[in-house]
Amino acid sequence: MSSKKSSFNVVGLDGQAVAALRAQVRGELIQPGDAQYDEARKVYNAMIDKRPALIVCCVDVTDVISAVNFGREQQLAVAVRGGSHNGPGFGTCDDGLVIDLSRMRGVRVDPANKTVRVEGGALWGDVDHATHPFGLAVPCGFLSTTGVGGLTLGGGIGYLARNYGLTIDNLLSVDMVLADGSFVTASSDTNADLFWAVRGGGGNFGVVTSFLFIGNPIHTVYGGPMFWPMEAAADILHFWQDLILKAPDELNGWFGFLTIPPAAPFPEQYQLQKMCTVVWCYNGPLEKAEETFKPIRGFRPPAMDLCGPIPFPALQSMFDVFYPAGLQWYWRSDFFKHYDDGMINLHLKYASELPNPYSTMHIYPINGAAGRVGPQDTAWANRDVNFAQVTVGIDPDPANNAQMIQWAKDYWLALHPYATGGGYVNMIMDEGKDGVKAAYGVNYPRLAQVKAKYDPNNYFHINQNIVPKA
Ligand SMILES: Cc1cc2nc3c(=O)[nH]c(=O)nc-3n(C[C@H](O)[C@H](O)[C@H](O)COP(=O)(O)OP(=O)(O)OC[C@H]3O[C@@H](n4cnc5c(N)ncnc54)[C@H](O)[C@@H]3O)c2cc1C
Repeated sequence: MSSKKSSFNVVGLDGQAVAALRAQVRGELIQPGDAQYDEARKVYNAMIDKRPALIVCCVDVTDVISAVNFGREQQLAVAVRGGSHNGPGFGTCDDGLVIDLSRMRGVRVDPANKTVRVEGGALWGDVDHATHPFGLAVPCGFLSTTGVGGLTLGGGIGYLARNYGLTIDNLLSVDMVLADGSFVTASSDTNADLFWAVRGGGGNFGVVTSFLFIGNPIHTVYGGPMFWPMEAAADILHFWQDLILKAPDELNGWFGFLTIPPAAPFPEQYQLQKMCTVVWCYNGPLEKAEETFKPIRGFRPPAMDLCGPIPFPALQSMFDVFYPAGLQWYWRSDFFKHYDDGMINLHLKYASELPNPYSTMHIYPINGAAGRVGPQDTAWANRDVNFAQVTVGIDPDPANNAQMIQWAKDYWLALHPYATGGGYVNMIMDEGKDGVKAAYGVNYPRLAQVKAKYDPNNYFHINQNIVPKA
């Protein structure tokens, strides 16, 4: 670990208090003027360019408690950083304190009890790496570089959602540091109101220092992308929708529009072409996989078929390389029950206008196991819908932001009248109080009450914020 010394005296921060904090923590304190500062303040979305007054890189629970107490005593705005993937950049802030968990990435698998203990700053790749040798996995997302913290606290939609539910449906307990610096565990037996709220309510209630998950039996799945030309997109979208609404839980596949990257393993003839895709994940018996996929391949033979037996961590990290940190990101999301001809025509229009090779639109199934949990069983209310849709404008060059943001907004606006209401908190930008209320729907008032109990002064407010109301 590099030196904990910082000679820079930040205007507005009490130097003695910072020195006392530095003496308390085992991790590192980084301030403006430190050599590491510019690297440490970066988050995944390069559109976010914030300058915190102090970054505390915690290495254990004690560091987190010290940092939370410091932020409260110094009356600083406080952001909590997990994997830093948040679209609107809620893992950082201007002029305040960042409690950075990115050095707390330990994962411990208990193979006998089939549980997985994960520290609050781990990435999903850390979890996959640790669980795979035991033939276990925790339902996560579609990339391995996303943080466990933010993804889990916001819900967690991924390859295993139809099979084993959202990430929160696999959560057994959390260890947390609350706004007053106290340490609590929340589970269905202990602090059950808090446990209900953290399963979807985001980082509103405190800093989660570790998550305890169910480890599900997953090893080699049958999965990967199939691609079809745009001329086939309407038929494929209809076919996929009908299939996935009736499919057994162990079959999942998300639909997307994208531009084929100009690189191997994609044949040159398809590179930079706009296409539609379904990226499959079948977790049933492998000997039945070919039979399961026969009608899919038979409906319209894909132009490119990269689907086959694959270790789950390889599927989970397949697209990491195409989405490195440091790109400009803007996204909008909605939930849908069904896509009819008119909606599919709108999809075709905006997909044909994908503004660059990075921008994309995905539709994730959230029926199956994820849909069998009641809307009020956890804070995640959107259980009676079938699909989560996200339109993402991405570009390496900030000069193109206006164009790619306009495309994402126009696409979202066109389909929005048919949506069920409220977006997925993990896939919206900063859309204000109304956006947060809409996202939590029926659960918002109860979340506001839990917030009033555990964080009455709204200390944790740099997030999709739930305003405390007793
Ligand atoms: C490339 C990419 C792929 C994605 N894929 C998926 C996907 O497949 N499925 C899906 O559901 N979502 C996906 N997301 C969305 C993702 O869930 C959110 O961006 C989420 O906020 C990221 O969490 P993080 O820990 O990486 O981010 P951060 O920016 O570090 O944190 C996000 C929010 O969570 C809070 N937080 C993080 N960790 C903790 C903690 N330990 N305790 C308390 N609060 C905490 C932060 O304060 C902040 O408010 C993706 C995002 C990106 C950029």
